[in-house]
Amino acid sequence: MPDTVPYRGRFAPSPTGPLHFGSLLAATASYLEARAHHGEWLLRMEDIDEPRNVAGSDGAILRTLEAFGFKWHGEVLYQTQRKSAYAEILQQLQQQNLTYRCTCSRSRSELQANHTSNIYPGRCADKQHAEECEHAVRLRIENRDIEFNDAVMGVFAQNLQTDVGDFIIRRRDGLFAYQLAVVVDDEYQGITHVVRGADLLDSTPRQIYLQQCLQFNTPHYTHLPLAVNAREEKLSKQTYAQEIRPNSNALIAALNFLGQATPEELRYEPISEIWKWAIPNWHVEKISKNNQLPLEHYSSDR
Ligand code: GLU
Ligand code: ZN
Repeated sequence: MPDTVPYRGRFAPSPTGPLHFGSLLAATASYLEARAHHGEWLLRMEDIDEPRNVAGSDGAILRTLEAFGFKWHGEVLYQTQRKSAYAEILQQLQQQNLTYRCTCSRSRSELQANHTSNIYPGRCADKQHAEECEHAVRLRIENRDIEFNDAVMGVFAQNLQTDVGDFIIRRRDGLFAYQLAVVVDDEYQGITHVVRGADLLDSTPRQIYLQQCLQFNTPHYTHLPLAVNAREEKLSKQTYAQEIRPNSNALIAALNFLGQATPEELRYEPISEIWKWAIPNWHVEKISKNNQLPLEHYSSDR
């Protein structure tokens, strides 16, 4: 098939700490997919969850990406600059009668749910709470399966009613929820392909549902296996957040984790030579969906 479909990918880190190995994987895979398709690669700083932001980490992430030689298209989009766009979309959903105000405190809504899950049982769905009460805004979902074919994980399906429940799109503290912001921004930036960590696999049906409510395009999805540390904990900024140093060894470790077996000689080459090898040799189908490479083999100090 000729490669005529325009490709737009993105990397969307949250500035809650420095770039770690898990985010390097998402950056590398999304970048190589975009480059291999002669597409564009955009950067978005997902700083919408303001209490979790760590001052200065956006700049630190950008400097690390630059030092690794990532080249992004256009300006970095900051979600904190996008609040009026989110508010507009929220209003549109309200007009479609797809939202309601929920005054449940977290513990109360969880208590109401059955014991085995924290699916919101819809307690406030018909209550019409006044605007003045402190409230979150929830999106009404439908009882149907939402299915998509992930490039790595295969077919993934979820029924939002039985698996999720009406979900929050604006939080009680007034901040817009990630699920809303990511959908609005993927559309705004014209993203055709999303490549990110598998921790977001089960958020994807919610995002597809929102895209459908808003008549947005649904991008293609690729969810990457999660890197674990030697103790088998998922690498994230909360658990094991070792800052990654920009060097050849780190990039080679990322490529190998992503199933792109790098030739031994590359180890002694500068980062720019590694990209020269990686772009033409990139094959998304080589990513193993159950990759659990323990990272004890890899030290960022080398
Ligand atoms: N901001 C999210 C993270 O850093 C990624 C969201 C996404 O790629 O959709 O984990
Ligand atoms: Zn409620």
